[in-house]
Formats: sequence, structure tokens, C-alpha cells
Amino acid sequence: MMPFKETVQFIQDTFKTKDFIPIHAPVFMGNERKYVMDTLESTFVSSVGAYVDLSERMMAGISQTKKAVAVVNGTAGLQIALQLAGVQRGDEVITQALTFVATANAIQHNGAEPVFLDVDYDTMGLSPKSVSDFLEEFGERRESSTYNKRTGKKISACVPMHTFGFPVHLDELLKVCNLWNIPVVEDAAESLGSYYREKHTGGLGKLGVFSFNGNKIVTSGGGGMIVTNDPEIGIAGKHLTTTAKVAHSYEFYHDRLGYNFRMPNLNAALICAQLEQLDGFLENKRQLADAYSEFFKTQGITFRKELENTRANYWLMCVELKNLEERGAFLKATNDSKTMTRPIWQLMYRLPMYRHCFRDGQKNAEYLEERIVNIPSSVRI
Ligand SMILES: *Cc1c(COP(=O)(O)O)cnc(C)c1O
Repeated sequence: MMPFKETVQFIQDTFKTKDFIPIHAPVFMGNERKYVMDTLESTFVSSVGAYVDLSERMMAGISQTKKAVAVVNGTAGLQIALQLAGVQRGDEVITQALTFVATANAIQHNGAEPVFLDVDYDTMGLSPKSVSDFLEEFGERRESSTYNKRTGKKISACVPMHTFGFPVHLDELLKVCNLWNIPVVEDAAESLGSYYREKHTGGLGKLGVFSFNGNKIVTSGGGGMIVTNDPEIGIAGKHLTTTAKVAHSYEFYHDRLGYNFRMPNLNAALICAQLEQLDGFLENKRQLADAYSEFFKTQGITFRKELENTRANYWLMCVELKNLEERGAFLKATNDSKTMTRPIWQLMYRLPMYRHCFRDGQKNAEYLEERIVNIPSSVRI
């Protein structure tokens, strides 16, 4: 018998097709066309426009933060959020090796070095214990900052990533980082709609960053959002991402080296329409997660569910196979049947540009790397 035949059958039945089933496809069934047409008719498709402001207000509301800044994509948002947190060239930034490459790239784009610490087995995100152990061994307090006593470099931020929308243990992580005076920048690119103890992810650290790339839970084509509870940081973020131009009705004056990282109004129109549907998408995905959970129980395969005190957005759903061999058989059987599945990312220190970076034991990251597989997770219409 073909291995994992019942799994393929279940996914095909669930998505009501025998054709190709992607991991995650966007759906446009709200005001997308109307709002995008609005921008064309108004001619304000580019850098200024009402939808940019509206998307920022909507995102501040959803993420329960004081200020949101719309940016051209999540990676650029992370790069700027790190600068706003105080990261400078030559610093070190703590993060996880089990992540999408953008997390580490944003650190390196600022001329800082990622320090890769292990994830927790249960959350698949940065482990407060790994961070605490690392700081106890290598951390040295100097005035109000922490330095790595082995390298002499300042440790200027910590970037946890909420893998596939499952929140990390934020209370514990914030406690460790506060103890060492290290600002937390949440890579919440995958966790729009995910909550930790009733609080929206991305809003608990000093800054948080969301992505609206085409494969995320909602999309603007390309785009992202920086959020913060510090209004001054928010204003500085808007300034920095809009060429640092000083407001004037006709003069060009820029008071520092800025970036052209703003989100075009055309994309903002799309995200406003998508955000209006977020609650429905979340409910739809939760029903799919429940169905998967019941089904995989009958197969002896572990389906990853949200942890206590959290609410996951179930952006990308995943199963945990027993070992590398079973993972290989699962990937082959499903993909051969046009049911797309995909292994979790290779750990960052396997990539050429991060091979030299410091890393700790990575016991959990390496365990998960060999076993976690994403399965089709789209909103079903
Ligand atoms: C998608 C993603 C990003 C970056 O988002 P873009 O908008 O594609 O630049 C950053 N971090 C993680 C973990 C992501 O999944």
C-alpha cells in the first residue's frame, strides 16, 4: 500500500480537489477590488494616501499597540525596528537558528552579528532558558547595557520569532531580557492573530514586526508593519522609513540618513481589505486545525496544537514525524500526489553567510529540523 495514502486522501477531501494543493494561498473575497480601484481612481497609488494611514490605525488596533508604521516588507521592517531598539554596527543580537532567513538577514543588514540560541521543543521559538544560560555564562553588565565578555561586543537586542504563529514563552523571555536590559524586538511576521495570555504577539516587546507577504495569513502583495507602545519610537520609525524628510509643503530637507521603506498606497488598500476579514480567516483556519487534529490522532502522527495560555493563528499547520526517514517518506508521498508539504527551514548556521556565527547546543532546533513538516493550511472558501 502507498504510504500516507489516508493522509493524502484526507487533505484532498478537505480541500475538495485532486489537483495541486498549495501550502498556503491567499483569498480575496472582501473589499480588495473596491479599495484597490479607489487608489487608481484617486491616482494616489504610491507614497502618500489614505489607505496607508488607515492600515496603520487598523494594525495598531489589532495588535493592541499605540503606533504602527506601514513598511515595504517585513524584512525591511525588522531592519528598522532593530535600529529603533538601538542596534548599531558591530553589536550582537540574540535570535534563534530555527527561523526563516529574513530574521537573521535583518540583523546582518544593520552590520550586527546574530547569536543563535536554541528554541524550546514545545513552542519551536526562542527558549528563555537558552537566553538565560547564555547571558549567565557570557553576559557582563556595563552601566545600563550588557556586553559579551568573550567578544567584547554589546548585546543590543533579542529577537524571538513566533514560529508558524505559535507564541514563544514571552513572560519568561521578557523577564530574562529585562533583567539584562536587552530590548526585545518580536519577529511577529508569522503571528498576526496569535495571542499570548490575551495579549497580541508583537505588542509585548519594545517593538514588533508583521509581514504581509503573499504567503502570510493576510497579504498586501508585499508589505509589513512595525508596531510599538512607545509613541516616540513610532514617530521616529515613520521618519526613518520615509527618507527622514522634514515636513514642509515644498522644501526638501532631510535631517539624517533615511530609508525609502514606506508601503505604497496601492498595497495598503489591499491590506485594509484583508484585515477586515482577519477574524473570519482565523476562525476558518481554527476549524481546519481541529479537523487535522482529529484526523492525525487516527494515524498516530503528532499534529501541533496551540499551547496553554496562548491562542495560535494556525498560519502554517504542521505535523511532527518520528524521524528523518519517516519525514522523507511523508514528504515524498504527499508531494508525489500534488499535495504540497514542506520541511521546516534549515538552521541558519548551515547557510554560508551564518556559518561563522556563535551558537549554543541547539538540541531542540536540530530535533525539530529533522521532524517538522508543514501541511496545506489555506483558508477554505
Ligand atoms: C515572512 C517572514 C519575514 C519577512 O517578511 P517579508 O515581508 O517577506 O520580508 C520575516 N521573518 C519571518 C519569520 C517570516 O516568516
